[in-house]
Amino acid sequence: MSLKSVGPADLHLHSDCSDGTEPPAEVVRRARAAELGTIALTDHDTVAGWDEAARAARAAGIMLLPGAEVSAKHRGMSVHVLAYLFDPDHAALSRTMTRVRGDRIGRAERITRNLARDLPVTWEDVLAQCADDATIGRPHIADALVARGIVASREEAFAGPLHPASPYYVSHAAPTPVEVVEEVGRAGGVSIIAHPAGRGALPDGEIRSLIDAGLGGFELGHRENTPVGTARLQRYVDEHDLIVTGSSDYHGAGKPNRLGENTTDPAMVERIIRAATGSDPVV
Ligand code: AMP
Ligand code: FE
Ligand code: FE
Ligand code: ZN
Repeated sequence: MSLKSVGPADLHLHSDCSDGTEPPAEVVRRARAAELGTIALTDHDTVAGWDEAARAARAAGIMLLPGAEVSAKHRGMSVHVLAYLFDPDHAALSRTMTRVRGDRIGRAERITRNLARDLPVTWEDVLAQCADDATIGRPHIADALVARGIVASREEAFAGPLHPASPYYVSHAAPTPVEVVEEVGRAGGVSIIAHPAGRGALPDGEIRSLIDAGLGGFELGHRENTPVGTARLQRYVDEHDLIVTGSSDYHGAGKPNRLGENTTDPAMVERIIRAATGSDPVV
């Protein structure tokens, strides 16, 4: 199998299987139109989009790395672990993702109930914004608030009623980042910490634990990373020869992030493919 891709690689895209706004096939079509050569579908806590994305990637002649963005929490701080080319049928990892998806439903319902004390929004409104079996999240609640004319955008919802400091906020249960990295490794996948240098930095001890647990690397090319935070993590990359990726974190109309706004070096794509044993890239 040729590992060569033609065109830039964007390894962090969302579809409406989580909080993106387009079905997987449409995401792939747009990626091809944006002249990307390699993409990864990384919906939150689910592999539901893999088959559709794979069919679309074959039709479009674009290389696809199936993946997921797994929710984790370090001492209350949300950490997102991008997982690539793992075995989608690995029992422990799929159980972990199923558990998080399930907990997200009750949590979204509680946030909505809290909002409904003061605002004209219902759980039915939220469900109407969420594709069948999609991983539900605050973006769907935001979309319901927009549909009701309560806020103008997801952005405004996140800055206001859906902000973690808001009285309506409820968090969801999640495994620790080390647990996720270990499970992804056992499932034959490669773990990359998503947007690792944005708000909230992981302490040095936790970064060392993640590297010991088999972390593949960091997504240093992401619009939410700060220069100072990125430089700090680059030192770990240099010391431990870690993988570095750059990605858009495309969410369709749900975020301003543009396809290909950050890209990953082909040599790094190749390292991910060579390190993974859980599933094959779609070429
Ligand atoms: P949740 O996982 O339900 O807590 O929601 C977090 C998700 O909301 C992340 O995956 C982001 O993609 C999305 N998100 C966070 N902040 C914003 C924002 N300001 N505008 C749009 N989407 C956002
Ligand atoms: Fe998201
Ligand atoms: Fe994320
Ligand atoms: Zn993401």
